[in-house]
Amino acid sequence: MLLRARVILPITAPPIEDGAVRIEGERIVEVGRYKDLTNSDSHEHDLGEVILMPGLINAHCHLDYTNMGGVISPPSSFVDWIQTIIALKADWTYSDYANSWIAGANQLLESGCTTVADIECVPELIPEVWRSTPMRVHTFHELISVRGRQTPRAQVAEAVANFTNNPNPNGGVGLSPHAPYSTSSELRDEATRAANENSWCLCMHIAESEAEDQMFRNSSGEMFDWLARNNRSMADCGQSPVKLLHKSGMLSDHTIAVHCNELDSEDIELIARTKTHVVHCPQSHAYFGHNPFPLKELQNAGVNISLGTDSLASTKAPTSGLKPRLNLFDEVKQFAKANPNTPPQQISEMVTINSATALGHGDELGQVVTNAHADFITIPHSTNGDPYEALLEHEGLGSSVMINGRWIYAPLIG
Ligand SMILES: [Zn+2]
Repeated sequence: MLLRARVILPITAPPIEDGAVRIEGERIVEVGRYKDLTNSDSHEHDLGEVILMPGLINAHCHLDYTNMGGVISPPSSFVDWIQTIIALKADWTYSDYANSWIAGANQLLESGCTTVADIECVPELIPEVWRSTPMRVHTFHELISVRGRQTPRAQVAEAVANFTNNPNPNGGVGLSPHAPYSTSSELRDEATRAANENSWCLCMHIAESEAEDQMFRNSSGEMFDWLARNNRSMADCGQSPVKLLHKSGMLSDHTIAVHCNELDSEDIELIARTKTHVVHCPQSHAYFGHNPFPLKELQNAGVNISLGTDSLASTKAPTSGLKPRLNLFDEVKQFAKANPNTPPQQISEMVTINSATALGHGDELGQVVTNAHADFITIPHSTNGDPYEALLEHEGLGSSVMINGRWIYAPLIG
C-alpha cells in the first residue's frame, strides 16, 4: 500500500512535501518524495491536503478513571484530592472501571493517539480490556502499600504472574509502584527487582506536589502528618524523593518518572545521569496549580521529556459545562500556552518519538521511518504553513488513524 500526502512529518527528519509512505503488512518499508518512490503495483491512496505523521503516544494515563472526569473539583490541597479519589474509588464496581477504561481508550483513539502508557489499578480487567481496543496499550500494574494486605513480595509476584499468564497482544507491560509516599521501601525494592528480572519498565509518580516534597525533605507537612497518623513508616524521609529512589537503584533508562515538579539541581543531575525519562502532564499540572515544571533545567541537562494526559480525575474541561475528555492535542495546547518559547517541533517530539523512547520503542514507534510500525494519523493541511504549527492548532478529532497498517478511522478519500 502506498500513502501519498501533501506533507509527511517523519518527526525525526525534516518534513517531506508531496511525500509518500509505502507499507507492507504492519511495517513501513519506504518513505520519501512521491516522485522518488520506486514504482510497483502497490495499492495507492492519495490522502490529499493533509499532514501524515506518526500516531501520538500518550506517555501517562489512567484509562480506568476516565468516567471520573469532572467529578472532583480542583482541591484546596493535594492531600484532599487523594482522600477524595480514595473515597470515590471505594464506591466503584468492576464494571464501572471496565466501562471507564473502554471510554478512555475510545477518546484517545478518536483524537489521534495510537499508543498509551497506562497505569492499571484494577488488574482483573486484563486481558479483556486489551482486546477491546486496537490501540497499543503499555500497561503498568499499579502497586500501593496498603496495611493488612499481602506482603510486598506476594503483591509483586501476583502482578508478575498476571502478566506472564496474559501476554499483551498489542503493547507492553511494566510495574508502577504508585509514588514514593504511597509505597514502602520493601515494595519499591521488590518491584525494581521484578522489573529488572523481566526487562520491564518501571513507572512512578515522583516529586509531584509540595506536600510530597515537604514530607520527604523535611519530615513535616500535611502529607507527612496524614501518613504518619495512618502508621506508614516514615523512616525513608529526610531526603528528596529523587535521592531516595536513586539510593535504592530505581532510577535508570528503564524508569519513567511522572510529574517531577519539585526538583533541585542535584535531583536533575541524578535524573539526567541515570537517563531516567520524565513525563509532564500539562492539564493535570494546571488543575492542581503545582509549582512550575522545571522544563528548561531538565532540557539543559539532556533529559528525555514526554507529555501525558494523566487521568480525567485531575483534568478540567477546556470549556465550562462540558466534561473533560482524553485528548493529547489539548495537552499540547496547554503546554504551548504555559511554555510559549518552546518550538512547535520540540513539542511534537514530546508526544511521539520521546514517549516511544521512554517506552523502549524509539526505533519502531513515534517516527515515520523504514521498519517502524505503520501507525499514522492525518491532520488537515491546505496551506504552505509550518506543519508543526498545524499540529499545535489541531483539535484532535477528525483525524484518520492507522495502526499496524490497518485503518481504524479511514480517510474519506483514496
Ligand atoms: Zn498519574
